[in-house]
Amino acid sequence: NADAAMYRAKELGRDNFQFYAPEFNSTAQEKFFLQEELRNALARAEFTLSYQPQVDLRSGHVFAVEALIRWNHPSLGTISPMKFIPLAEETGLIVQIGDWVLHEACRQNKDWQDAGLPPIVVCVNVSARQFRESNLISRVVNALKDSELEAKYLELEVTESLIMQNIETAVATMNELQSLGVQISIDDFGTGYSSLSALRTFPLARLKIDKSFIKDLAANENDQAVAIAVISLGQKLNLRVIAEGVETEDQVAFLRKNNCDEMQGYHFSKPVSAAGIVQLLNTGGARPSQK
Ligand code: C2E
Ligand code: MG
Ligand code: MG
Ligand code: MG
Repeated sequence: NADAAMYRAKELGRDNFQFYAPEFNSTAQEKFFLQEELRNALARAEFTLSYQPQVDLRSGHVFAVEALIRWNHPSLGTISPMKFIPLAEETGLIVQIGDWVLHEACRQNKDWQDAGLPPIVVCVNVSARQFRESNLISRVVNALKDSELEAKYLELEVTESLIMQNIETAVATMNELQSLGVQISIDDFGTGYSSLSALRTFPLARLKIDKSFIKDLAANENDQAVAIAVISLGQKLNLRVIAEGVETEDQVAFLRKNNCDEMQGYHFSKPVSAAGIVQLLNTGGARPSQK
């Protein structure tokens, strides 16, 4: 019935419901349906990228954006990557989807530069299977070649758990990426288990403090301790530190006071379209209209 369809639609992270959304009798059925739909999504051009600005905490300058995939399904509406990326991992489709993201993000960044905007870095999330199973290096090389984007304007975000699955091969892959000139950051830092001695040997540009530590930063002393520890770790290892999920002025004040380098979050801007980024860069770092 309509209520159930609307409920399902909401669960799937949709903004507005449509009555012809299919109904699932089980999560297994839903998963099967989504996996089948995912197989066609690339060919049907149902993916887009949103871009969320990253800001230098001292200068207020936007120096990078994170590319975040969106799946606009014809009947289900917008499906969150939190929901479909794990399914794409399971089926292996993540390799093709991830390749599309890489190409699209590089193409878009070069387009911004060609339009005369100040050059920025585009950050692309790389999932475990993409990092491990596909020929990541040649895919990155191809994305850079096809787009004619300079490698220094591309950054890959990996997670601690991805690296820790096999430290040796991960370090080898990261070293190859670094020799291409591509930057690497650790996403969701603090949620996995990194060996701190291993961390020292990784060719990293940045640590991204996970947003779970930022959420209650103003009030929670444990979160404050974690944030301060990550910032000082970054300083000792000569890495920049960015806080993700920054939503309030109090959080900004805390991060500034404790010498965090950079921030990303709704406080400055939600993820926006490519056109939203043009608007933002053209107005010299003023906030784009939030979508
Ligand atoms: P992530 O890489 O940690 O990305 C940050 C997530 O936090 C994004 O969610 C972003 O929209 C959200 N966010 C940003 N600022 C705030 C804030 O102030 N408050 C709150 N509550 N949230 C904020 P999103 O876009 O839903 O993506 C979720 C996750 O899906 C990403 O987490 C990433 O792990 C994955 N993902 C997204 N795009 C891709 C992609 O192209 N490839 C792969 N492999 N994974 C992706
Ligand atoms: Mg990320
Ligand atoms: Mg993150
Ligand atoms: Mg995350």
